[in-house]
Amino acid sequence: MDNVYETIFNSINDGIVIYSPDGNFLDVNQITCDDLGYSKDENLQMKITDIIPSEFRESVHVQVVEKLKQGGGIIELICKCKDGSLIPVELNIRPIDYKGAPANLIVARNIAERKRAEEVLKQSEWKYRQAYNLMQGVLESPKDVVIFAIDRKYRYIAFNKNHQGTMKHIWDANIEVGVSMLNYIKDPADKEKAKVNFDRALAGEAFTIIEEYGDVLLERCWYENVYSPLKDAQGNVIGLTLILTDITERKNAEEEVLLWKERYDAAVAASGHVLYDWNIETNDVTYSGELETVLGYSMTEMEGGLKRWIELIHPEDREYFERASSEVIETEESANLEFRFLRKDGRYIVIEDVGHFIKNIEGDLIGMVGFVKDITERKEAEKALIQAKVLAEESNRTKSEFLANMSHELRTPLNSVIGFSQVLDDRIFGDLNERQTRYVSNILNSGRHLLELINDILDISKIESGKMKYKPDRINLIQTIDEIVMLTEPMAKSKSIVFESNIEFENQEVYADRIKLKQIMYNLLSNAIKFTPKSGKVWINSKVIADKLQISVSDNGIGIPFNEQESIFEPFKQVSSSPNREYEGTGLGLAIVKHYVEMHDGRIHVESELGKGSTFTLTVPVGCKVEHDPIC
Ligand code: ADP
Repeated sequence: MDNVYETIFNSINDGIVIYSPDGNFLDVNQITCDDLGYSKDENLQMKITDIIPSEFRESVHVQVVEKLKQGGGIIELICKCKDGSLIPVELNIRPIDYKGAPANLIVARNIAERKRAEEVLKQSEWKYRQAYNLMQGVLESPKDVVIFAIDRKYRYIAFNKNHQGTMKHIWDANIEVGVSMLNYIKDPADKEKAKVNFDRALAGEAFTIIEEYGDVLLERCWYENVYSPLKDAQGNVIGLTLILTDITERKNAEEEVLLWKERYDAAVAASGHVLYDWNIETNDVTYSGELETVLGYSMTEMEGGLKRWIELIHPEDREYFERASSEVIETEESANLEFRFLRKDGRYIVIEDVGHFIKNIEGDLIGMVGFVKDITERKEAEKALIQAKVLAEESNRTKSEFLANMSHELRTPLNSVIGFSQVLDDRIFGDLNERQTRYVSNILNSGRHLLELINDILDISKIESGKMKYKPDRINLIQTIDEIVMLTEPMAKSKSIVFESNIEFENQEVYADRIKLKQIMYNLLSNAIKFTPKSGKVWINSKVIADKLQISVSDNGIGIPFNEQESIFEPFKQVSSSPNREYEGTGLGLAIVKHYVEMHDGRIHVESELGKGSTFTLTVPVGCKVEHDPIC
């Protein structure tokens, strides 16, 4: 090697190796020695395979043979240095003639730096791709968000699919990059509005506005529009970006909320109540509605939350209020309290406080809303009513007692009247002439009628004063009904009334008060006979259905007008119509019947038609209300 080549050989930045076809190093330059860490002498003792890690030798050999066959070429491989470290190198290998014999020349370049740079590039490329994908996702994902960018001449730079769809939907436009957006907007007013906003952004202003857009034929939608100028690296405005969010639903919901609030405020005002909203955490209370009218205070005068509220409660009711409030919080029940409250005019009013808890999504109590109402008048009316009731009960009792005593006092002389006129009527002390007979018979009938009346009065006053005893017993129904039928038979016969009995059981027992049941049957049957003209018909039906005894007494008599069918069960009430007037009576019989039926836990009602007849039906349980009932 002459001197020039020797200089190049040793000063070049790449490593140079010459090795023989059987792999022995024939020459290396200084860079090679520096990179691999061997001295030149050491290198010259080595084979080329010594600097290739064993695992790569095979594949490197194949590549080298391939390149040499082609007259030379470039391969990349990993070299192993003296200290065991590995370096990536790019080899330019070609066959040469060295000192008259064939050899191979390698120009080797350490590409560790390049590899590192490539790796960094790969990484950052990957990062940008990720960022790009993310960005694309952001642009396309939100359902109602429209995004686009335009240049200074309003020409599209980019847009997302939503914008493409919206433009198609609103203006039937197939938008394209590079075409002015204003060309697509058909409504002149909308076009002008858009241009004004674009120009603002193009002048460098970033702003957000809510606008309505759309073809007049289609429904118009509300959009929240965020305009931002688009700048180049030097800060010059080169266009703008616009992000539109369709907020039609939100806007409608807001309007609906406003409407509801208006309705709510109107309802609150109309109710005349004070509404409160108590925040448990801060203990603040806010009021709406008729605060000034009901309590007399302004909002400012009520400031101070719950503390101020408690201050105004009557001192005697404060403890009750605090206890009840904490109970309400503990149990999370609705509040319904009544207490006295000091109005601004110095007057205590009774107020009703009805509150309901509000919870957040997690289910924690956050407050209570409710209303307060001045119920002073209602309370006073209730008090007056209670007093009136007490008085009425008192006077009723006095009346009943008076009647009971009176009846008793009247019965004694009346018994003498009836007894002695009976004796006279029976001719025990001798005959009577015709006139005497008529008079005595009159005295006897009037006496009996009076006694019946007094007995009824006595019964009803006993019932009303709660002194009428209920004495149930096991009784045989058929027998009881028969007894009453026998008792009323003469009455029926005297009017030639046909009597029929329809009883669907034989040995039915019922747990009832015998005397009262008989009285019930007697009153109903005697009424039926009384209010049925001569040669009419009276009949009894009786059956047991689902442990209930049902007895009905029917007649084809004068009937009862519909509007009086309820009142006849009240004491002293008689039908006011003229055909009724000819019949004697006290108007107490049915009242007693009703009371007695109810004592048996039963019900009675009438079905009747004027001129056609009436049916009184009573239903009582076969076994009775008392626990020791032997039939139950
Ligand atoms: P009284 O029969 O003593 O008047 P009640 O209380 O027994 O009193 O009856 C009240 C009224 O009901 C009777 O006056 C009569 O007008 C009407 N009433 C009761 N039973 C019948 C009936 N079977 N047919 C028509 N009216 C009747």
